[in-house]
Formats: sequence, C-alpha cells, structure tokens
Amino acid sequence: MFVPAREIRERFLRYFESRGHRIVPSASVVPDSDPTLMFVNAGMVPFKRTLLGEEVRPYSRATSSQKCIRVSGKHNDLEVIGRSPRHHTFFEMLGNFSFGDYFKEGAIDFAWELLTQEMKLAPERLAVSVFREDDEAAAHWENGIGLPQEKIYRLDEDENFWSMGDTGPCGPCSEIHIDYGRPDTCTSEICDPSCDCGRWLEIWNLVFMQFNRDAEGHRTPLPKPSIDTGGGLERWACVFQDVRNTFDTDLFQLPLERAQTISGVNLGEDEEKDVSVRVLADHARSLTFLIGDGVLPSSAGRGYVVRRLLRRASRHAVFLGIQEPCIHEVVDAVIDEMGAAFPDVAERRDFIRSRVRRDEERFLETLSKGLQILEDEIQELSAKGETVLPGPLVFKLYDTFGFPMDLTADVLSGRGMSIDQSGFESAMSEQKTRARAAWRGSGDEAVAAVYQRMANDLATSFCGYHSLEAESPVTALLVGGHPAESAGQGDSIEIVVEETPFYAESGGQVGDLGSIASAKGRVDVEDTLKPVEGLVIHRGKVVEGTIALGDVVQLAVAPETRQATVRNHSGTHLLHAALREVLGSQAAQKGSLVGPDRLRFDFTHDTPLTPLEIERIEDLVNEWIEVNAAAQTREMSYDQAVKSGAIAIFEEKYGDDVRVVSFGTFSTELCGGTHAAASGDVGLLKIISEQGIASGVRRIEALTGLGALRHIRKQERALDEVAQLLKTVPAELPSRVGRLLEERRVLQRELDQLKRAQAGEAAGDLMQQVREIGGTKVLGVRVDGIDAEAMRTMIDDFRNRLGSGVVLVASSLGEESGGKVLLAAGVTKDLVGSHKAGDLIRDVAKVVGGGGGGRPDFAQAGGNDASKIDEALERFYALVEG
Ligand code: ATP
Ligand code: MG
Repeated sequence: MFVPAREIRERFLRYFESRGHRIVPSASVVPDSDPTLMFVNAGMVPFKRTLLGEEVRPYSRATSSQKCIRVSGKHNDLEVIGRSPRHHTFFEMLGNFSFGDYFKEGAIDFAWELLTQEMKLAPERLAVSVFREDDEAAAHWENGIGLPQEKIYRLDEDENFWSMGDTGPCGPCSEIHIDYGRPDTCTSEICDPSCDCGRWLEIWNLVFMQFNRDAEGHRTPLPKPSIDTGGGLERWACVFQDVRNTFDTDLFQLPLERAQTISGVNLGEDEEKDVSVRVLADHARSLTFLIGDGVLPSSAGRGYVVRRLLRRASRHAVFLGIQEPCIHEVVDAVIDEMGAAFPDVAERRDFIRSRVRRDEERFLETLSKGLQILEDEIQELSAKGETVLPGPLVFKLYDTFGFPMDLTADVLSGRGMSIDQSGFESAMSEQKTRARAAWRGSGDEAVAAVYQRMANDLATSFCGYHSLEAESPVTALLVGGHPAESAGQGDSIEIVVEETPFYAESGGQVGDLGSIASAKGRVDVEDTLKPVEGLVIHRGKVVEGTIALGDVVQLAVAPETRQATVRNHSGTHLLHAALREVLGSQAAQKGSLVGPDRLRFDFTHDTPLTPLEIERIEDLVNEWIEVNAAAQTREMSYDQAVKSGAIAIFEEKYGDDVRVVSFGTFSTELCGGTHAAASGDVGLLKIISEQGIASGVRRIEALTGLGALRHIRKQERALDEVAQLLKTVPAELPSRVGRLLEERRVLQRELDQLKRAQAGEAAGDLMQQVREIGGTKVLGVRVDGIDAEAMRTMIDDFRNRLGSGVVLVASSLGEESGGKVLLAAGVTKDLVGSHKAGDLIRDVAKVVGGGGGGRPDFAQAGGNDASKIDEALERFYALVEG
C-alpha cells in the first residue's frame, strides 16, 4: 500500500466535507491574538474561541489540516527530533471539529469509517485507548463499532484526559493506535498504548470536550459538548506508505536527499549522523513555515526560537562536516515538496532562503570565533589539569561572542570537561544588576524603567566595527517615550533593532547618524545612544511612510560622518600618547569629546603649554601618522590589559574583559570606540587651541584629516588676502606689518601735531568773538561735532588765550544723535569769586533741555535740543552780565 501524503490530506478533508464539515484552510503558525501561546501546536487552536463559546461561526462542523510547531511550552518535542521515529518540530495536524453538534459516538463513528472504509486500513491493526472512567466511549467502541474488548485500553488521566488549561473546557479523550505487535525487547508487564517499546503508534486523538473545570477542580457538564480531534499527517503517511519511521515517508524524501548530497553522508551508516541528517530535514521544514508566516530569526520572543532552531540545525550541519551555509538549500528542497500544498511558501521561496542563509552565515562566523576562543581556554584548562570551565568565561562566550551556552557544554563534554553552570548564571544576573545600577540617578524614572525592561530582553548586537550597514528586524519602537506598534511620517521616535552598525555614544565618541529604511518608510537617525548597557537606541524622525515593530529594516550609517569621527578618535589616542611623551605621564586624561568635526581632550597639567611643547606634540603625532602603523584590536582581561601597558582612564568603569586598541608600539588604550585601520588614516592632526578649564586641567582642541587641512587653508587664505592688500607675499608679512605699524606711529604723531595746530588756529579765529562785559572778557562759541574731551582742551586753551575771562563752548552732536548738545564752561582763577562755571552751566543747560554742573572754574553739561544753542549762548552772555 502506498498513498502519497498529499492524497491522504486531500482524502481526509474531502471525507469530512462530504459529511457536512466546512474545510477551513490552515491558519498561520503564529496564533492570532493568543498571548499565552508561542506557536500553534494543535488543530484546535484557531477554533479555541469557538469551542469556548466566545465566537459563533456560521457552521457547526469543520475540518482542517493545520500547520503545527512543537518547540516550546507544554508541547516541546525538540530534544527527541531525529531519534524519535514519529516526532517533528513541524507537522500537520488533520482534524475534525464539532461545535455543539455531534459528540462522542459521532466522532468515533467518523474516525472508524474513515480509517477502515475510506482508507481501507485493516481493523485488526488498530487498538484504542479511553479514559479510565469513560464508560460511554468504551461501550461505543465495543458495541457500536464491534471492537474486541481486549483492544480497548482504559488509561489514566495523564494519558487520556485533555484540558485546555487548569480551568475551562476539558474532557476525556480516546486515542487510536496502530499496533505493530509486541517486540521481544519489551520488558513491560502490561504493554498498553502508553508503553514506549515501539509497539504502538498513536495516529489520532479524539477529544470529547464535555466538562467545564473550575478553580477547585470540580467538573460540571458543558451544555453543548464539543469534539476536537487531531491526527498527525506524517504518522498517517507512515501507516499508508508501510514504513515505521515518519522520516521514511514521501514528505521527507527531498529534504533528506538534499542533506545527504550536501554532506556526503548516507543514511544508515552511522546512527549519530543519521540523527543530524534528519534534524536538518526536520528543522528546515519548521524554518520554512515559520519564516513563511513572518517569524524572522531575532534575539527575542518568537524570533529567538526561530534563531535557535536555525543554529541548532547549523550545528548539526557542522557536525556532518559541512563547512558552508547549507540550511537554505535544504529549505529549497522542503519548498519543492510542500509548495503545491502551500502556495504561499512557494511564492516566498527567495525571501525564506535568503533570511535563512543570512542568519546562518552570521552564526557560522560567530561559531568559528567562539570555537577558537573556547579551544584556547580548553588548552589552558588542561594545562592546569582542570576540567570545569569557569562560569564567567562561559558567560563571556555567550555574551560577547553570542556562543550558545549549550554548545559550549557540548564541546566541553566531548573533551571530558564541563561548564560551571551556577557560575554562568550568577555572571548573567550580575550583568543585569550592573545594567540596573547604571540607571540609578539618571532622572526620568519612567523612561528608565522602559529602557531597562527593553535592555533585559532586547540586547542589540553591534556590528559597526567592520560594517556600516546591516539588515535587522525592529524589536522595539518608542514614540514620545512610550512603546508603540508603529510610527508615521513626522513622528520623533526611538528604534531598537537586533543588530546595528550604529555606534552608540560612549567613551567620549558621539553617536552615529544615518538612516533606517524599509520598503514602507524611512527614518533619519539623528543620534544613537546607550541608555543602559546592551540597549542601543536610535533616535530620529520618520521622514517617509511608516515604520512598524517587526519590520525588517536596512540600517545605514552616514559614512563620511563616521569616517571623520573615526579619524578624530584615533587622533585622540595619538594625541594622548604624545602628551604623555612630551609632558610626562602625569598628563592624564580627564575627559574627551570625539565628534566628526573636531576632538577635544582634557588632561591634568599645571601650566599653559608653551608653543614649543605644542609643536613637539603635533610633530610627534604626525610622525606616528606618517609611519602608518596598523591598528590592532584585542579582547583581554582588564588585568592583562593593564599589565601590557594599556592606558586606562582612572574614572572609567571597565568590565572584567576589555577591548584594547593599539597603534604600533606608541599607543595602547582601553577603548570600545571605532577606529581607523591604521594611524595613517588620521591624515594630519592640528592643534587649534590650548587653554585652562579648571585648576590643574587643560584642554586641547584639535582637528584631523581634511578638517585640519580646511582649517589651515582658511588661515592661509586670510594671510593671502592680507598680503594682497599689502601688495606683498605672506612670507614678507611680518616685516611688512612691522614697518606699517612703525609708519602708523609716525603718522599718528604728525597727525596729533597738526590737529593741535589746527585747533589753535580755529581758536584764534573764534577769539574775535570775545565780548567785553563790565570789564570782563566773555566768550560763548559754538563748535559742532566735538567730544567732551576735546571740549575740555578747548576750554583750557581759551582760558590761556584770555588770560582772564569767562568762556562757554556749545557743541551739537548732529542729527543722528537726536539733537544732543554738549556744553562746557570755564572761568579763569582770578574771576571765580564773581563767576562760577558750575552755576552758569546749570542755567544755560536748561535752555537746551538738559542739566549739569561742576566746579567754579570748570563745568560740563548736556542737553537734547540743538536748535536752542544760539538762545543758550545769549543766555550765557546775559548771565555773566548779571
Ligand atoms: P505523542 O504522545 O506521540 O507525543 P501527543 O499525545 O503529544 O503525541 P496530541 O497532542 O494528542 O499528541 O496530538 C494529536 C496528534 O498529533 C497525535 O496523535 C499525533 O498523530 C500528532 N503529533 C503529536 N505530536 C507530534 C509531533 N511532534 N510530530 C508529529 N506528529 C505529532
Ligand atoms: Mg507529545
């Protein structure tokens, strides 16, 4: 007998259709709005609400072939895959359902008729189990169907009683088994269908949803009992294709063949290798349908399960000696087999393949790096005669290299070693505590809490040391500090992804800028920050379309900005080293700021740097740039790093393991930032300022690369312009300017003399206006546009010329001043008994709308009505006259 799986599926559905059932297409493997469930793991899941009476459907009988995944939660068959002849991570569950329509007898009748009449299965091969207390079911199998009593097994609650949860609908069930006959190897006394000797194959489970269970465990009958049945298509294929192992059915042939071709391993030669070949075929099926239903490999939630499956498959491939990514090819074979029944995965073939391939490639890289490190550690351990890998090391492999803990354990156990499990766990929880502590006192508690929660399960890996682009799903989205499902054009948002090339601000280096885009929208990233350890926030604005949780986005760091920052960061290291060389090692770093446009470096030092010191520092840095020493980046323990002479910053907190960046022999620093590949990339470093910022702390600002060049060019241009103005060349400027200054001094002197002479002349002219009043010489004159100082000189001059007399000068400061007037009055010593300059001016100033006063021999005042100056002068003469 050979019935292809495709035909079994078809005949099952048609059988129930012809008996009044609606054929319902398989739902996605991701449960529709059921937060309690990771993946759909049974045919009834999509009907759950209908079975509970919460949702009414326009039909009371349904049938389906539902895609199921059993890799997590209550139903998890992951560990037995490849060894069990009847379990898969992905399988199809055939089922028929009655929503308050037929019940126990109906379900049993249909099942029996389908198997023995429609499918022509010999009744002798079948046995059933029923719940110990379910007399009704037992009676119907015996009397209604005519099954001999010894083929009806009564089993306990844990075998034959089904419940949706601790409370709610539940009921006894009845399983239908193929009986292959008791093998000689069976040691069980009873060997009923719960025996695992291999005699039994459970092919169908009929659930009689009959009771409602309350919190105390009391069962009350449901008003409308229902039916939910499930039979694995793969197992049916076993039966109708006359094989004992589901992997031997037609469903698996193409993927198994592909796995054998790629690995060069033939099934049946080596037990362990058979397991791996089967795992490849099995996992490729779940990956196909998971990714096909939109669950992409990621570091959290459902996506993480997918990633684990992929990595598990990949490790089995490695075990088979496959060096290259290969799961995508097995996926291809799966789609060849399943595409006809599931056209949607056929349509998404390229997408599924490429997602699988990308994640596997990345994993293989991680794997080889991690294995290398692990190998080193194993060498060290065996040298010391130890057999347990310390927890912190296991954690480091896991945390820094993404190397799965169970893989570490695998590799070690192959070498007769083990891992320190509890040490690993405490290292893990310590890291969480550290992350929390980093938050304390940072202000906004609510946002802090959101970030912290995100950091706990959304750790972002950073791929930006070597790459400026990445593709990754959005794992979290904040709009206005609140978690959101999606964001639209104009929204200011924060995005978290699984893997990013964006450097988050830390260690003085500013966060990267760039863009994040999907087919549906684009975000301009304005800053990248790390509010808590492990969590990278991209801050920016949606400039086009929308962006939503789960979207796969292309991340691109703005390359020029990043490269400029890189130059400045490496330049900072060189500057730091040069400072210590020139000023001594007490010139310790106090802080730094590294951006794309400049670098700033604060250090301890008591006195301003001399121009010579600055020059030596610049020379040294630029010599190091010139030798173009390659940058070397290494990870090591903190102690090791300090021992090797790396500069650590005193105030900075470091973990146990640090990243050490060095250039040649001249610069070695602990640093997590991004750096140039070689010192030569810095191009040129130019110090542009040096100043004190606090007692004992100095600050240097410098430019590198084109920034330095531009700065120098700007200076040069200014010099050129000046030289041109002076009709000379820049080199001649110092002597030329010296000469000019000298000329200017001479000219100034001449000018002063001339002014004095001219003023004297003018004064001489004005002397003609002196009046004689009662034997006293009196002079009131208007001299516009002179300042208070010139006025004072003028008054002195007139007093000298008069020998004895009274004088007043008025000056209009012009229209622009709003009619302002300055007044000054002087009285020669001999006359101060009879005329007081202060009194005179106070009165005169009133005429021009102002006030003032002063000594008897000299006084000044102001006013604001220049049109009254003549009147004021007349008033002056009148006052002297008395
Ligand atoms: P088993 O005891 O064999 O693991 P189960 O009791 O977990 O089976 P049910 O939860 O009753 O099975 O699921 C209904 C049917 O689905 C089973 O009768 C079987 O035919 C099929 N099935 C269950 N688990 C798997 C699996 N991992 N791979 C393939 N088919 C399965
Ligand atoms: Mg099971």
